[in-house]
Amino acid sequence: MRKFKVTLLVVVAYLLIAPFAVYAAKINFPDILGYKTLKCDFHMHTVFSDGQVWPTTRVDEAVREGLDAIAITDHIEYQPHKGDVPTNHGRSNEIASGSAKKRNILFPIAAEITRDTPPGHFNALFLQDVNALDTEDFLDAMKAANDQNAFVFWNHPDWKPEHIGWFDVHDTLYENKWVHGIEVANGDGYHLNGHKWGLEKNFTMLGTSDMHAPSLITETTPENHRTMTLVFVKEPTLEALKEALVKGRTAVWFKDQLIAKENFLDAIFKAAVKVTDVSRRGDRKILLEIANYCDLNIKLQRTGMTGPEEFLLPAMDKTTLKIRVQKGVRNIELSYVASNMLVAPDKGLPVKLTASAE
Ligand SMILES: [Zn+2]
Ligand SMILES: [Zn+2]
Repeated sequence: MRKFKVTLLVVVAYLLIAPFAVYAAKINFPDILGYKTLKCDFHMHTVFSDGQVWPTTRVDEAVREGLDAIAITDHIEYQPHKGDVPTNHGRSNEIASGSAKKRNILFPIAAEITRDTPPGHFNALFLQDVNALDTEDFLDAMKAANDQNAFVFWNHPDWKPEHIGWFDVHDTLYENKWVHGIEVANGDGYHLNGHKWGLEKNFTMLGTSDMHAPSLITETTPENHRTMTLVFVKEPTLEALKEALVKGRTAVWFKDQLIAKENFLDAIFKAAVKVTDVSRRGDRKILLEIANYCDLNIKLQRTGMTGPEEFLLPAMDKTTLKIRVQKGVRNIELSYVASNMLVAPDKGLPVKLTASAE
């Protein structure tokens, strides 16, 4: 009876509190290599350019979806609502920054430099003066961002099929070190050149939503999540976030795939995937229980001799594998490729799982 009363009390207390608690998703990716993993989206719009929402709504959405950092990147050169919302560069950042601070969202001041392709669109983060980017000449705007020590990345490089390519102006940007990152994924789109140039030119690889409409995501799942960037930081501060972006410590989470440099994907796999139990069934069978402690459904394809041709490690779940072995064999090594952990275009991460049965 006493236990029942305590349970009832807990239930009543929950029912009283629940309507007031903000639902916040938790996105599960492990901390790696001594760094903390932050979930970030550095590209979105508000009514101050061509978006449909008020700036603070972007912060509310980020909290609801379990993000740690966002940037509002309204266009400098394009304000279709300016009849109703007068041109005031940086105003959307001013409006949202207090709310971001209160809700513990890292919020670098940002804007989108928006020119026809080529050169295309570029986001500048960690600005002090957004107005300085409003220049006649494109290169002046890029210089103004860099004079403020901004972190600058090339947006949706494959956006205009008729103008895809690396042009002379991109050589100028590259030689001046005025661009530091590139989008590999933007909203629903994968940008092959972003992926290629990210690796070839050693740009920081980013995934962003580029949201214009309100975010309708109420529950973040592996199958339905915002395109975002995981950033591996020394500590959760703006300075450390910038340091990690400049150094290129990122992974892109896009449509149930992770895209990054191999060392980061390797570290994520090793931190997230664990053999949690090994047992024998007779002489010729070993059962392996494998846990996946992250929000990626990891797809594995065999490259070695042992194990099923392919199998899935569902996100935040455990899987049991039956492995046929030669009589008396105790140690097994599974060699696979994680086909949705991309170390290069169309190239998955090579992985190994080892276990020994008693
Ligand atoms: Zn754009
Ligand atoms: Zn944009």
